[in-house]
Amino acid sequence: MGVLEERPRRLPSGKSRCPYCGLLQDRVATLEQDWVLLEPDMNPLAHTVPAEYRWIELSDGRVTVYGVCPPDQSQRCRIEHRLGCPEQPLPDLWPWLTILRRENARQTERQSKPEPPLPPERWPDAG
Ligand SMILES: [Zn+2]
Repeated sequence: MGVLEERPRRLPSGKSRCPYCGLLQDRVATLEQDWVLLEPDMNPLAHTVPAEYRWIELSDGRVTVYGVCPPDQSQRCRIEHRLGCPEQPLPDLWPWLTILRRENARQTERQSKPEPPLPPERWPDAG
């Protein structure tokens, strides 16, 4: 890519090009009088997407974050292009897993020597 553009170039039908990867993304108005850049033609089931990253379309065409937990099993949602963009870092989608991984990393560091093998399991005689 050449010169960095100030803002995504607008194309007809609410499409704009991602300034990072150059792919098309849908520019959609949000309930909060703002815009969000969504991945086109992608409607995953809401429960497969972390709550704060689910966008659902309202009847007037605007979108809003669908933070309902647990989500309706059949509810579809949309995701921001930045989650699928190959040129942008992925945000921390599952913070509790990140915390678990950090905790486990600390645990492995603490284990300077491997644990002794467990004794073979003995079953009491049933008679
Ligand atoms: Zn992109």
